[in-house]
Amino acid sequence: MSYDENNIFAKILRGEIPCNKIYEDDFVLSFHDINPQKKIHALVIPKGKYTDLDDFSLKASSEEMVGLLKGINTVAKKLGISTKVGKGYRALANISEHGGQEVPHLHFHLFGGERVGKMVE
Ligand code: 5GP
Repeated sequence: MSYDENNIFAKILRGEIPCNKIYEDDFVLSFHDINPQKKIHALVIPKGKYTDLDDFSLKASSEEMVGLLKGINTVAKKLGISTKVGKGYRALANISEHGGQEVPHLHFHLFGGERVGKMVE
């Protein structure tokens, strides 16, 4: 699937749509999910144009890969849910059709602030 420049997260990255920002650096942008499923529900997206985790794994540079993982940890610390400062959380990436992905720009969901519960329905 080619990257859709008009997906909602591309618009957020370009500043065309607002978001409730948590963190930003050269590699990632993080903001609160508009429809939170848990007490804390954050999204972490890479700044590069990748449709999903498979696309990212195939095309991203090593620097971008490290940047995304470090970004997730930084956001978790900022939210008080990382294992260093809190009680943990779930990081989840939906991938394409069977994964239930709705927005075609790679994103990790971070759920926490309470027990997250069953892994899959
Ligand atoms: P997916 O199903 O693709 O893994 O998750 C997409 C997520 O993006 C959903 O949890 C949805 O609530 C969130 N979302 C969709 N549109 C917006 C938006 O405009 N702003 C924010 N902050 N989150 C959004």
